[in-house]
Amino acid sequence: MNKMIDVIVIGSGIAGVTAAKAAADEQVSVEIITKGAGATMMGSGALDILGAVPGEEKNTTVNDIKEGMELLLDKNPRHPYAVLKDSLENGIKALREVCRAGGMEFTGDGVTNAVIPNILGTFKNTAYIPSYNKYADAAKAAGKILVAGFRGHTEFYPEYACRSYNTYQRQFAPDADAVYIATTLELPSLADRERITNAELAAFFDTREGMEELAAALDDMKNIMGGIQGILIPPVLGYRKYAQNMELLYETLGIPVGEIAAGGHSVSAQRLAAALEKGLENKGLEAVNQAKAVEIRKTEEDVFCIVYEQQGKTKEAYARSVVLAAGGFIGGGITSYREDLFIPVINEPLGRITPEMVNKKAFPGGGQLFGKVGIRVYDDMAVAQGCFSGQIFACGDLIEGYDWVYERSGSGVAAASGYLAGKNAANMAKGSEH
Ligand SMILES: Cc1cc2nc3c(=O)[nH]c(=O)nc-3n(C[C@H](O)[C@H](O)[C@H](O)COP(=O)(O)OP(=O)(O)OC[C@H]3O[C@@H](n4cnc5c(N)ncnc54)[C@H](O)[C@@H]3O)c2cc1C
Repeated sequence: MNKMIDVIVIGSGIAGVTAAKAAADEQVSVEIITKGAGATMMGSGALDILGAVPGEEKNTTVNDIKEGMELLLDKNPRHPYAVLKDSLENGIKALREVCRAGGMEFTGDGVTNAVIPNILGTFKNTAYIPSYNKYADAAKAAGKILVAGFRGHTEFYPEYACRSYNTYQRQFAPDADAVYIATTLELPSLADRERITNAELAAFFDTREGMEELAAALDDMKNIMGGIQGILIPPVLGYRKYAQNMELLYETLGIPVGEIAAGGHSVSAQRLAAALEKGLENKGLEAVNQAKAVEIRKTEEDVFCIVYEQQGKTKEAYARSVVLAAGGFIGGGITSYREDLFIPVINEPLGRITPEMVNKKAFPGGGQLFGKVGIRVYDDMAVAQGCFSGQIFACGDLIEGYDWVYERSGSGVAAASGYLAGKNAANMAKGSEH
């Protein structure tokens, strides 16, 4: 048999990373098996705890997180936060520790949400923003804010965004009092480009030449407009040098600069993913990368054998305890065959998608029922269904009963459930040693 690990975590998103850190803090050996990217690689890079409470008619925007939590649990007493809220602080702390070790700090107190303008022209209430982007909080914005786009940029249109920011700011931040003014910058090195993407701009601003051109263009525009008190740009300030670049702009321009939030294949999510990977490494937490777990078996010795595929080979790893942090539909933890849903790693059925679960409105009040699909867990995050009931743990987007899209609760649930799952898996491993 291969070497025995105390806790194997499957998945390296926010839930898996937090679970691994929480388990390692219990002084057990930990290994992550991960195939790579998941939903964590698609977020805005900000850590949401609770941004909105879904309602029948409309969603309630959350500014005070504790009040929002009470409203959420009042409407939905079986929400995972009913058992997870006491682990939130520890989960976020563990997650932030890994991020810090990977070079990324966060700003936020977990009490009041920041309000970040997003690339679609609306706002996002979120608990923790990366510290490099602390000036993006629209709740504190006042006076003239210049919103700069780039000629040929295909992913952000400052005129549309500004119109919408000016209309909706008070809905998200009652005390906000800013006037958003759009401008489009022309940078000399990009003058011949008809179309340019976030990724290309980010790569350009990782160069000294790129940042010099950006700082000069923003400075010119600031002087032409007069009275500008802050600047917003799309999230393209580099993949590597973003914190340094933000400081440089602040020093050059003498006013705060922030990045607008974007999800999907976003530069800011990739910064977070890179910080998580580096943080794991710097914390000495081992990860088997590009490895897809395909089966979990219990051996005769009562240990778990995780069968995984890596570079065309089938391999096995052995653990006393397992945390399944494989994500939801996006991460690959949940998949479907026609309308049947299941968790492939443990071959566990999750029922069917029925027409009633899909509201034809894109963003219906109350959310989409299929968004809440996942595995049932006990209060300690042990799986509560199927042949592994009570034996392995689950966390993050894989667990049932919440809708991170509507609630903006993704990172909070992932960190809190990951923390609990990791800790309890470590304790189970310690128990099984004797
Ligand atoms: C477009 C978008 C924008 C978002 N914006 C935000 C935001 O701004 N703030 C926020 O807090 N949340 C946001 N979210 C939600 C948030 O990203 C998720 O809730 C959170 O990342 C879930 O973390 P997770 O660890 O549970 O899952 P994931 O991040 O999906 O991680 C799952 C992990 O499991 C691995 N995996 C899956 N199957 C296997 C297997 N068989 N073997 C090995 N590894 C496997 C995957 O590769 C991945 O590493 C957003 C999500 C999306 C899609």
